[in-house]
Amino acid sequence: MSGDDLWRGGRDLQAAADAVGLGAWRVELGEERIELSAEACALFGLPAEEAGPRSTQEAWRFYAPEHRAPIERAFRDCVEQASPYDIEFEALTAAGQRRWLRATGEPVRGDDGGVVAVRGALQDIDPYKRREAELREAWREAERTDRAKSEFLSAMSHELRTPLNAILGFAQLLNAGIERDPEEHRAYLRHILSAGWHLRDLVGDLLDLARVEAGKTSFSPEPVRVGELLQECVRLAWEQAVERGVSIRLEEAAEGSACRVWADRLRAKQIVLNLLTNAVKYNRDGGSVTLSFHPEGEEEVAIDVRDTGIGIPRERSAALFESFERLGHELGEIEGAGLGLALALRLSRLMGGDLALVASEPGEGSHFRLRLPAAEAEGHDRSYGPSLDPQLLDDAEGEAPIQLLYVEDNSVNQLLLQGLAGQRGGVELLEANDAVGGLEIAERYAPDLILLDIHLPDMDGYELVRRLRAIPALEAVPVVAVSADATDEARRRALASGFDDYILKPFELEELNALIREIRLSK
Ligand code: ADP
Repeated sequence: MSGDDLWRGGRDLQAAADAVGLGAWRVELGEERIELSAEACALFGLPAEEAGPRSTQEAWRFYAPEHRAPIERAFRDCVEQASPYDIEFEALTAAGQRRWLRATGEPVRGDDGGVVAVRGALQDIDPYKRREAELREAWREAERTDRAKSEFLSAMSHELRTPLNAILGFAQLLNAGIERDPEEHRAYLRHILSAGWHLRDLVGDLLDLARVEAGKTSFSPEPVRVGELLQECVRLAWEQAVERGVSIRLEEAAEGSACRVWADRLRAKQIVLNLLTNAVKYNRDGGSVTLSFHPEGEEEVAIDVRDTGIGIPRERSAALFESFERLGHELGEIEGAGLGLALALRLSRLMGGDLALVASEPGEGSHFRLRLPAAEAEGHDRSYGPSLDPQLLDDAEGEAPIQLLYVEDNSVNQLLLQGLAGQRGGVELLEANDAVGGLEIAERYAPDLILLDIHLPDMDGYELVRRLRAIPALEAVPVVAVSADATDEARRRALASGFDDYILKPFELEELNALIREIRLSK
């Protein structure tokens, strides 16, 4: 190798050392001094001019205090036992910053074979250490998520299977046909119904929560009069409150009577109803619930729900808004899945508001406050519909029955509608199993009402409604979608395709009954 090659090799080596942040050091034993190369100085944040010997005592300040002992030990072993070392530590730079370095050390032997000096390299490993810490944190986070997912699945399995057990269990008893007294029979049916409704709500909450977490919830905000919203919620919770022996009072603050919030009406109702039913559920016999509201500044309206119930222990309140968190009520009598508040909090925040537990005292009661953005006071509010009448009755006896076409491929759903039509009377049911059959019957009979399943074997309901709408004789016939797809997109798509309304499965029979009643009365 020529001298020139060597020189170039030295330069290249220098460039390589610079690229990976590599410096050299050497300690002469007995002289108590350490020599640092210019690169090693740079690693400690020192200017290159400070390269050269300095006292080992002074060098100690470049090591983070908690790393000094292992370095000292490794150095001592190297001197005493001639053992090389390779150690990672945190340095303190001249500017006071921490930087991860790797230090290697090896003994240098004198003529007599004894160790006379120690030399080694210093390497900047800070980027790797930081990346490693990030990866470790990401790993821990993945483990946490994985654990949460398993817990979620196990909680969900439990929550879904419990009501299913009641439904299938009591249905099997009824199916076995051992007729006891009719009261027992009715009690079994009540259990089936109550477990079924509970399951429906649970599935609704679960889907809602999944949509919220996936950022897929859509809102249609409008000015909503708070007084009316609360009245509607009270009406919906009334029966449950009476059963529980709890009274509900709605305080209407004078300044609040024109109070409006800017919110999605259905979502706002869902949140308040959740707070209200909780206040009833977790109350005591003879207890009470008070609802009130007031403007908070110009921007917000506060809705307060106070109860005289069992309260929430302070140490548990931190977990109150977590999903599947029941705060010790898991094994109790009170039904619930621990999803309501988790969902309510997320929904209220997505609407620009918030939800909080203001105060709670075990044995005394709780006070929740929902805050929603205020809307201007003017304008007209949509009124709420009439209260639901749970009886299935023919309301226009003697008059000609209406013709109802139901296009549905599922035989159990067909049976359900046959049952409803048979019970209430006043309905002549026409049925088709597929879209083509449905079109044929619709054209031939021009029925008064058409109900369409969306998932049909030969054509989807969106297409079918478009074709129905193209038939002039059917122009004025209401066509209603009956679907199990609870997403807002599905509902929007159905209405845009020409449906007049959208009924979600499972539905309360009263929902269909009301539709039929309306059409009979308008005939
Ligand atoms: P769920 O009622 O289905 O269990 P929520 O998410 O609505 O679920 O409430 C979570 C938990 O918070 C409940 O299980 C209950 O322990 C507690 N909680 C909620 N509201 C009240 C209240 N008004 N009084 C006492 N405890 C309550």
